Amino acid sequence: MTSLRRYLEQLMELGERELVLERGGQRPAPAPREAARATAAPTKAPAGASVATAAAQPADAAPNAGRPAATPVSRGITVEPPASSADLFTTDPIAALPDLAAVAAMIAQCTRCGLAHTRQHTVPGEGDPRAGLVVVGEAPGATEDETGRPFVGRAGQLLNDILRAIGFAREQVFIMNVLKCRPPNNRDPEPLEAAACSPYLHRQIALIGPRVILAMGRPAGNTLLATNSSLADLRGKVHSYRGVPLIVTYHPAALLRNPNWKRPTWDDVRLARRIYDGETV
Ligand code: URA
Repeated sequence: MTSLRRYLEQLMELGERELVLERGGQRPAPAPREAARATAAPTKAPAGASVATAAAQPADAAPNAGRPAATPVSRGITVEPPASSADLFTTDPIAALPDLAAVAAMIAQCTRCGLAHTRQHTVPGEGDPRAGLVVVGEAPGATEDETGRPFVGRAGQLLNDILRAIGFAREQVFIMNVLKCRPPNNRDPEPLEAAACSPYLHRQIALIGPRVILAMGRPAGNTLLATNSSLADLRGKVHSYRGVPLIVTYHPAALLRNPNWKRPTWDDVRLARRIYDGETV
């Protein structure tokens, strides 16, 4: 009873105002907008990325007999691993870093862009180095810059609630940003900053080897998927980042500004949880 109460409280924190109980394998039909999004044409692929054309799996092909039928989800952008990653003669020092501690040590010395001059602390990321779920945000804010830790301000508190609502303690996942240093006045990351910093992100994800990636916000999704799409195009799809399923949702800071987006975020993070649990979607 206590855990049911906690669960309901979490739903309310995330903006749920009604609860639909599912019984006997029946699931309510998706609302028209959701249905349209679920069957929408795949996102246009950038050069170097491909888009799977597969529609949702037919219900009878899923190895989940007896479980509620999953809402169909379309596949999105596929980003292949770089062909050179196994190259013995690679000269990329970041791609050769042996573990997360080595990545963080290199970030601490980094001068690859101008943010090195304005930062107080680098913010490499934190969490379980073997996490099945990796969360990627945009860039550190003021509190993160002061502490050297990701998502510890107000947006971070909301991120913790979101994670808890789908059954994860913060310590169980790995949380990182595209940028490892704070842009002054929290301005948007510049493309050159993201390009200079993203090799750290790619190496961290390769070292962790997660089951699923949750990109919080458009910049995180676009950086990982090497595209320049709208959030509306990125959401509601299962993308593939170097073989790892990737879901894009709203950034927690956006949810603080507009709580109406909590409901669609709830749909997205539940989808990430289903993939984490090995469900075919
Ligand atoms: N916003 C982010 O994207 N990352 C943080 O670490 C904090 C706020």
